[in-house]
Amino acid sequence: MSFFQDVFSVFKKRDLPFIESYKESDGIYSFLFEKEKDMTWKAGQHGLFTITHKKLKNPIRPFSVASAPTENIVKITVGIRDDASDFKKAMLELKQGMTVTMAGPVGSFYIKGDSPAILIAGGIGITPFRSIVKQLESEGNRGEKPVHLLYIDSGKLYVYKDELDEIANNTSISVNYLDSRDVLHQEIDKYISLYKNEGKYYIAGPKSMVDSISTYIQNHNISKRNIKKDAFFGY
Ligand SMILES: Cc1cc2nc3c(=O)[nH]c(=O)nc-3n(C[C@H](O)[C@H](O)[C@H](O)COP(=O)(O)OP(=O)(O)OC[C@H]3O[C@@H](n4cnc5c(N)ncnc54)[C@H](O)[C@@H]3O)c2cc1C
Repeated sequence: MSFFQDVFSVFKKRDLPFIESYKESDGIYSFLFEKEKDMTWKAGQHGLFTITHKKLKNPIRPFSVASAPTENIVKITVGIRDDASDFKKAMLELKQGMTVTMAGPVGSFYIKGDSPAILIAGGIGITPFRSIVKQLESEGNRGEKPVHLLYIDSGKLYVYKDELDEIANNTSISVNYLDSRDVLHQEIDKYISLYKNEGKYYIAGPKSMVDSISTYIQNHNISKRNIKKDAFFGY
């Protein structure tokens, strides 16, 4: 999506009625909102979410839409620690009948073309990839586009694990759960030797992790233009 399309999309604001929230694992919560019929996004994009039920100094945060466009719902999954920001405390107060506003969708973090895709998720960075692999599953991906998901979490809190395992069973998408940088590098090396610059490398997660993996990949002679990053600040 071009910069101008993004600017245009940001002005598209919708009130999303809250349905429910639940804990995925320690410090990670999912929030479900109603999706209007004409609303859509590209799997991997994010929205700008505004708290409206109370006044906050900074009421807006970007979150990847974790549901696929083919699912009839808007889902976001958020890391919320005990020392949560006022924004996140307000998220946990949401009750049926309340709404948040979503501007967008925005961003160019989505799969384009049929190149082999290596998806690298660091912790909460799994959110855009849930949408992407769910969408590929619904489109019936059976191997015409090789897709490999590497999901690293040092605490082994693999959110969506059951769903991802099911997707791996139903499609040709492979999912590897990792808990150390060394093993991640070994896996990345494998895909680099297999696909080189024929592959596209998508990385999402905390900014420092995204930057260091991107540097690692570039140091292995992969062109910057084959690497797409979704860097989450604030972690
Ligand atoms: C494209 C995108 C997608 C994201 N998707 C998710 C998601 O799916 N799930 C999820 O949990 N989080 C996601 N995030 C991160 C999320 O938006 C919040 O930034 C994060 O959750 C921290 O929010 P907070 O309220 O806890 O902390 P905050 O109060 O926002 O602050 C945490 C720290 O971040 C710094 N910071 C705040 N704004 C910026 C900025 N614009 N640039 C640089 N630093 C800044 C602050 O100075 C502070 O040090 C995403 C971010 C981006 C950019």
